[in-house]
Amino acid sequence: MKEINAAEFDSEVLNGGKVVLDFYSTECPPCEALAAKFEDLSHLYGNDIKFLKMYRQGNRELAEKLGVKSSPTLLFYDNGKEAGSRLTGGIKRSEIIRNLDSMLTAGRVQEIRSQIKPSVSEFDVIILGAGPGGLTAGLYLCQSKINTVLIDIALPGGHVSTTHEVSNYPGFIEPQAGYMLSHNMSEQTKLCGTIYKVAVDVTSVDLDKKEVVIDEYETVKAKRIIIATGTTPNLTGAPGEKELKGKGISYCATCDAKYYNDKDVIVIGGGNSAVEESEYITRFARKLTIVHQFDRLTANKQAQDKVFSNPKINIVFDSEPRVFTREGDRIITEVENVKTKERQKLVTDGVFIFIGMKPNISLFRDKLELDQWGYIKTNDDMLTSVPGVYAVGDVISKKYRQITTAVADGTIAAMAIAKEID
Ligand SMILES: Cc1cc2nc3c(=O)[nH]c(=O)nc-3n(C[C@H](O)[C@H](O)[C@H](O)COP(=O)(O)OP(=O)(O)OC[C@H]3O[C@@H](n4cnc5c(N)ncnc54)[C@H](O)[C@@H]3O)c2cc1C
Repeated sequence: MKEINAAEFDSEVLNGGKVVLDFYSTECPPCEALAAKFEDLSHLYGNDIKFLKMYRQGNRELAEKLGVKSSPTLLFYDNGKEAGSRLTGGIKRSEIIRNLDSMLTAGRVQEIRSQIKPSVSEFDVIILGAGPGGLTAGLYLCQSKINTVLIDIALPGGHVSTTHEVSNYPGFIEPQAGYMLSHNMSEQTKLCGTIYKVAVDVTSVDLDKKEVVIDEYETVKAKRIIIATGTTPNLTGAPGEKELKGKGISYCATCDAKYYNDKDVIVIGGGNSAVEESEYITRFARKLTIVHQFDRLTANKQAQDKVFSNPKINIVFDSEPRVFTREGDRIITEVENVKTKERQKLVTDGVFIFIGMKPNISLFRDKLELDQWGYIKTNDDMLTSVPGVYAVGDVISKKYRQITTAVADGTIAAMAIAKEID
């Protein structure tokens, strides 16, 4: 694997051969999660495909010329031409493999696969998800000397690692950078001795057998499972959103706001996340327009006050995005007033979307009792409808989703399990 700069792009990338190029940024948790997978895959595919990295902040001009608008972005080249599909955001190992395989013959893919050896490991408890809920459960279990493994598809930290500032977590007088708070939580749990398997793909989960398969070939077994998989941002569903994701539409302000220095952006949403992240984005952007579906913001009063007194921010109420398109470097967001049905086109450099969340339950949806919104039902001990399977944090059915409530859930599940195993 090699780090290159813009001056080397022609000779290293366009000059023939098969290449995968990772445009990364600093302070970007999805970039760090990708780095671990990228490094690992470079050992498997490195004889056939060149693995290159480029620092996006240091090579902005080239990144912009190539239309790279989000970090991380993976580009694939075969004989000097872009091949496969661009990957951005929380990139799965299986997506990278699919693109790499498409550049090789079936026989060569078979040979590479045969180098991977299946493995099995056993623990007392598997925790799925290393956000505040999972990390706290891991800490308590570890301190009870219970053999625990934390599995996460990204790096530890969950949503906190991509929140620019947290001011309501007790114990800190000053607001804390989200990535530092999550880093400290993770280090505390790791130093205790909890085993981490992070930045992996979770291939399958068998809640009855308590077995999780990761990266297709590694089986992890346990006596109990804690589900702490949190939530994922909702999409607006408007045409053009999927196509422009990572090409001007972003869901992560800490990852991408810094690229909008002196530029115009739109934020879709009006709740706490939208309003707090808007405030952060205006540290960089020249002008920010919040587009919100109701006639008033739904964020808390303190967050609203900041937005109303910020001269860079204006708000378009009662409106929803209908179509996203791109013209050159600009994103056109067509918004409709839900009352008058009038449409207007807002032309900006980028769009950030913060319109709520949905629970991450796709791997076990059919096995568990859920509430009407798809969140997992638990009892007072955080036990789900499946014996030996607990759930904590944002993924469960509850009224308030905060870091403090997630760590409380993690504590309860771990203490209940420790008592049971005793
Ligand atoms: C923009 C934003 C700002 C916020 N600001 C604040 C704030 O200031 N104060 C506050 O208290 N709360 C805040 N919150 C809410 C807070 O972040 C959450 O309540 C909290 O992170 C929930 O923790 P969790 O462990 O349940 O889930 P998460 O933090 O969502 O972590 C879930 C973890 O599970 C992993 N995962 C997902 N699917 C799988 C799978 N199939 N297998 C394995 N792992 C998986 C994810 O990668 C992630 O690491 C904010 C949220 C957002 C989005």
